[in-house]
Formats: sequence, C-alpha cells, structure tokens
Amino acid sequence: MIYLGCHLTSSKGYENMAKEAISINADTLQFFTRNPRGGKAKAIDPEDVKRYIDLAKENNFGKVVAHAPYTLNPCSKEEKTREFAFMAMSDDLERMEYIPGNYYNFHPGSHVGQGVEKGIEMIAEMLNKILKPEQTTTVLLETMAGKGSEVGSTFEELRAIIDRVELKDKIGVCLDTCHVHDAGYDIVNDLDGVIDEFDRIIGLKYLKALHINDSKNPCEAHKDRHACIGEGYIGKEAMARILSHPKLAGLPCVLETPQESLAGYGEEIKMIREMI
Ligand code: FE
Ligand code: FE
Ligand code: ZN
Repeated sequence: MIYLGCHLTSSKGYENMAKEAISINADTLQFFTRNPRGGKAKAIDPEDVKRYIDLAKENNFGKVVAHAPYTLNPCSKEEKTREFAFMAMSDDLERMEYIPGNYYNFHPGSHVGQGVEKGIEMIAEMLNKILKPEQTTTVLLETMAGKGSEVGSTFEELRAIIDRVELKDKIGVCLDTCHVHDAGYDIVNDLDGVIDEFDRIIGLKYLKALHINDSKNPCEAHKDRHACIGEGYIGKEAMARILSHPKLAGLPCVLETPQESLAGYGEEIKMIREMI
C-alpha cells in the first residue's frame, strides 16, 4: 500500500490544497513552500492550516511533501545565493511546524565547478546550521538526474552528505524515478538491484518519499525531463512494479508529471490505482 498524490499549488491556501487532493482521490500531496524560482513566502493563516489538518486527518492522508524552491543552492559560489538558501530553508522549516511531522524536500545543490567534494561539504554544513533537535519535519535530499554540476545523482554522494549531518533522524531521501533513471540506475530492468544498492549504500530507512515521473529520455541521459506515467522510457509496467514493491510500501508517492490540469492528475491517479 502506498500513498498517492500530485504536486499542487499552495497559493490558494492549505485547505484548498487538501480539497483539491481529495477531489482527485489523492491521499498525499506536494506543494512549493514559496515561488519555485525564489522570493518571499506567503504568510500562514493558522485557521486555514487548522482546516487543512482536519481534512487531512479525516481523509487518512499519508505524510505530505513540501518542496523547496529550485533556486535554493547551498553550494553556490555566490555568498548571496548561499545566504538565500540558508534563509529560505530556515524560514520554510519554521513554517512547516504548522503542519508537524511531514517532509521538506530539496535539491541538494549544484557545485558550479567547485567540485563534488566541496559541494557535499557545503550542503552538510548548511544542514548542520539549520536542523534542530526539536523540529518535527524530516528534510529530504532529492535524488538528482546529474545534469550540469548537480550534487546527489549517485547514492554515494547522498550517503556522503548524510554521513556529515549531525542530526541523522532529521534527514532522509526522496527518490525521483525520472531522476534516478536519468542518472543511470536501471529501475526498468533491475528494480531489485537498484533498491538493494540504495539499501547497501544509503540504507532504506532513509527512504521517505518517491517522486513518480516517467522520463522523456533513456537511462543515463542526465537530462531531467519528466513525462506522464506510461509515456516515457520507464513505462507503465516498470512503474507498476515500483509502486507495488514491498520494500517501498507505505511511502508517499507524488506525481510531478507534465499534466496541464487538476483533472489530468485525477485521470493519472485513477490509471495508477487501476494498474497497481
Ligand atoms: Fe524536485
Ligand atoms: Fe522530483
Ligand atoms: Zn525533475
């Protein structure tokens, strides 16, 4: 059993987000904490959040995933950019406490030529400054496709970040199926092998969520172009095997496919529920 949902917008409030999820038969969701290209976050309305929490409880939602802005880069060369990363994540994690016990996912960063080692150091350094023993949110490192100088496209790099994080119970991994496939992990022909490798190198206890996307490119393309389920190189059968794999049971699975409407996501969720 998995929790299934899609990326929704939080711009009309939390309650609205829960209603949208319920309307398409989703039991988890993902949202951006602020404009994905950066900028300020909207103030939280405690009444709105309370209504959201009630709806989520009544409808047996699994854990939900907040997604950090794409511009958040802890291993940028520019101090200004690193400061934004620190400020945005600190602020986001404070706001996440309105919906306690959920996940906050971010792209580990791009080292922009400074080298992957240096990138890993800088990412861990920022996490060690931000993570607090009393926070209830688990921060997730997203597996990356490996385009440009992205850090986190191999399980070893993610492990190296986790190794350096002091508060290990506050950190986890969100596996994006499009990204790992683009990074060269063959989840189509060797799903068990990839899951075993994840377990050996990172540890399955760190795997907290999935982004379920098909890929417009073949394995190892390092491109990161999402396709709708069944319309890319991963395909329906492989996706069904992923979503019914016993070692991935209970995880929130979030669609980030190029759907144009809520109804489109509704159709996709319906199709997935039928195929698993
Ligand atoms: Fe992402
Ligand atoms: Fe993703
Ligand atoms: Zn992506």
